[in-house]
Amino acid sequence: MTIARILTTKGREVITAQPHRTLLEISEILASRRIGALVIVDAQGKLLGILSERDIVRAIGQRGAQALDDPASSHMTSEVVTIAEEETLLATIERMSLGRFRHVPVLKDGRLNGLISIGDVVKYRLAEMEREQSALREYIAAV
Ligand code: AMP
Repeated sequence: MTIARILTTKGREVITAQPHRTLLEISEILASRRIGALVIVDAQGKLLGILSERDIVRAIGQRGAQALDDPASSHMTSEVVTIAEEETLLATIERMSLGRFRHVPVLKDGRLNGLISIGDVVKYRLAEMEREQSALREYIAAV
């Protein structure tokens, strides 16, 4: 299954924030949107990094509650692993597993065009496995 196909049903909205936003502001967005990571972009929408709930927990664990006043840029990951629309769900799973993260932004022509989370991976992989199983059952019944 391609990423393009997943985005056709999932949608292409990516919730972003600019790097000067504080960890408190980012936490408020994560909580209200019920998500685990924000993609950090500049004013032109160029990808600068990713900041997840784990980064916020790490910052508070290291610096205490005062870390909530720090800008996103101080705690985000700048080397973002991305995926292209033409690539597959399996390639996304491999990348998440290798990098030990749960979010992969989708790029098209260098622009942000979607995001695949671990929740999406589970949902679409499960649907794919169910389809494979029923195809196998039909095949066995036919022989
Ligand atoms: P997560 O599992 O997505 O909450 O992220 C765990 C750690 O990996 C955090 O430090 C994130 O900033 C970082 N991270 C999340 N997604 C990516 C990604 N696509 N590329 C690189 N780092 C990431």
